[in-house]
Amino acid sequence: PLVLGIETSCDETGVGIVRGHTLLADSIASSVEQHARFGGVVPEVASRAHLEAMAPTVERALADAGVGFHDIDAFAVTAGPGLPGALMVGVAAAKAYALSLGKPLYGVNHLAAHVCVDQLEHGPLPKPCVAMLVSGGHSSLLLVPDVASDVRSLGSTVDDAAGEAFDKVARVLDLGFPGGPVIDRMAREGDPAAIAFPRGKYADGTYDFSFSGLKTAVARWVEAKERSGEPVPVADVAASFQEAVVDVLTHKALKVCKDNGVKDLLIGGGVAANSRLRALAQERCERAGVRLRVPRPKLCTDNGAMVAALGSELVASGLAPSDLGLPADSSLPIESVLL
Ligand code: ATP
Ligand code: MG
Ligand code: FE
Repeated sequence: PLVLGIETSCDETGVGIVRGHTLLADSIASSVEQHARFGGVVPEVASRAHLEAMAPTVERALADAGVGFHDIDAFAVTAGPGLPGALMVGVAAAKAYALSLGKPLYGVNHLAAHVCVDQLEHGPLPKPCVAMLVSGGHSSLLLVPDVASDVRSLGSTVDDAAGEAFDKVARVLDLGFPGGPVIDRMAREGDPAAIAFPRGKYADGTYDFSFSGLKTAVARWVEAKERSGEPVPVADVAASFQEAVVDVLTHKALKVCKDNGVKDLLIGGGVAANSRLRALAQERCERAGVRLRVPRPKLCTDNGAMVAALGSELVASGLAPSDLGLPADSSLPIESVLL
C-alpha cells in the first residue's frame, strides 16, 4: 500500500510517501530561520508556517513520488507529542485529506516514528531491539519488541534533553540556533580531552540521563574564562562538551543492550545526526558485539518519511486506523504508538 505521512510537531512541515519499506518522496519545509533570532522555536510562528507550507509540501511530495492523491491508500499523521498548535495543523490537514478521499487515517506517535524510519534504510527492525531516541525534546532508552504495538520506556532524561543541551551550549558559545549541527562542526577542530566536563548519571546504575549539570558546568567554565580576559577556546569547549554527551549516551545504551540480552541497537532523533555519536557508537558496539543501526542524518531530524514509515508498518500489522475525530495530544506518552 501507498502511505502518505504528515509531520508538524515542531518547526518542520514534512510530507513523506512510502510503499512498504520503500521511500518514494520526502519533502520538507522548515521555519527554522524564522526562529533563529529568538534562540528557540516560537510556537505561534511555527503553527502559521505549517499552515502556509502544508498544501505546497504535500503537492511537492506527490510530484516527487510521481503519484496523485487518488493513488494514496492510507494517510498517517503525527498526533503527538509536540507543540499543540503545530500538531493541530497537521492533524486537521490529514483528516481533511483522509475524509475527502475516503481513505483510512493513522494518528501516530512522533517518537515511535523516529525509531521506525530506519526500516526505510536498513529493512525490517529486529524484534526486539533497543532504541535510543535523542532529540530536541527527548532522550529515551526504549525496549522495542514491536514498533507497531509494543514500545517500552526504560529510562529518559530527568532534566534537559540531549538536543536541548546542544542548543543551550551553542547559545553560551554564541554559535546560533539550532546548536547541534554547528557544535558538531566546531568540535572537529577541537580537542575532546581538553576539558573534563562532568558525566552526570554515568554510572548510577539507572537508564536515566541528566544533562543540565553538564550545561551549567560549560556555562560556568566559559564565564570564568571570559572574566579572566583570556580568549575562550570555542572548538575545545565544543569538542569536550560533545564528548561528555556522547560518552554517557553510548555507555547507557550499551548497558541496556547487555542487561536485556539484546544484540541490536538503533539510534534515532535529531542528535543521532551527530558525527561523533555515530562514530563512538559504532566503535563501542563493535567491541560489545552489538549490531548498530542509525538512519542517514536527513532521516534522523524531523521529516515526513518517518511518519509514513510508521503508518506503513501499522497498515501491514492490520491494526485498525484512528477515528476521524482523533485529537492532537501534545504530551502523548511513548507507549501509545497509535492514537
Ligand atoms: P522531539 O523529536 O523530541 O519532539 P524535535 O522534533 O525538536 O524534538 P529533532 O528534529 O528530532 O527534534 O531534533 C532536533 C535536535 O537535534 C536539536 O536540538 C538539534 O540541535 C539536534 N541536532 C541536529 N543535528 C545535530 C548534530 N549534528 N549534533 C547534535 N545535535 C544535533
Ligand atoms: Mg527542527
Ligand atoms: Fe523529532
